[in-house]
Amino acid sequence: MDKLTGQPFNGHKVLIVGVANEHSIAWGCARAFHELGAELAITYLNDKAKPYVAPLAESVGASIFLPLDVSNPGELEAVFDAIRTKWGKLDVAVHSIAFAPKADLQGGLLNSSAEGFATAMDISCHSFIRMARLAAPLMTDGGSMFAMSYLGATRVVPNYDLMGPVKAALEASCRYLAHELGPRRIRVHPISPGPLKTRAASGLKDFDLLLTDAASRAPIGEMVDIMDVGYACAFLATPYARRMTGNTVFVDGGVSIMD
Ligand code: NAD
Repeated sequence: MDKLTGQPFNGHKVLIVGVANEHSIAWGCARAFHELGAELAITYLNDKAKPYVAPLAESVGASIFLPLDVSNPGELEAVFDAIRTKWGKLDVAVHSIAFAPKADLQGGLLNSSAEGFATAMDISCHSFIRMARLAAPLMTDGGSMFAMSYLGATRVVPNYDLMGPVKAALEASCRYLAHELGPRRIRVHPISPGPLKTRAASGLKDFDLLLTDAASRAPIGEMVDIMDVGYACAFLATPYARRMTGNTVFVDGGVSIMD
């Protein structure tokens, strides 16, 4: 904590992966960490995405801004090379990406292809493990890592289908990484936001039904927004949460406790 500015992340370096536009959960994380004093590295998927992400990255003064498609060999390594060269350390890494081919996502789990399942698992889950492997050596003062999950990891949510087992694997990976990295004072959390109207969510069948259902069942009767997710990650990255690791943290207004 910086006592002069009261900004808990002053001097802290934070990598945010997954900003596509101003609705992205990753953007809520970027804004929250920026507001609390952190210096940011932000990535964009490719040249097509760059014009949408660049003005956002500029508005939070991101000092590293690089392309990252985790399925392109070498791009993740290039991001971490830049972090090592420019910052020499990293405090927080946020992984907020997911992908599944449309036919596999919308055709039910039963009909999913081996190739589609493997692609979804690689981009949405194993890329987090690769990211953790590169991030950990830079977290010399300890650190925290976050990956975005969803309730469909542990409950059956109609139409979530293929992504259910993929998010279950992501949550289990976070637990095992928390175990492996705990001795290095690196904490790892899956974050489970309630439904949010983003581009990734628009790929799910009847997503609007999920939204209205969540809003009607949430004990805190308001929709979650991307800043709620960002502030939750920020809290978990502070020393106030220093004895927390590995568990899934729901940011869903309480929907997950309801039947
Ligand atoms: P979004 O579309 O804004 O973000 C998804 C991001 O994934 C995009 O930035 C996209 O570029 C990135 N991505 C896809 N393939 C990639 C690849 N090969 N390499 C690098 N990046 C890639 O949507 P979002 O809802 O903000 O999604 C972020 C995360 O939150 C995802 O893991 C999603 O499953 C999770 N999530 C979303 C909701 C929701 O309701 N929107 C709820 C819970 C969890």
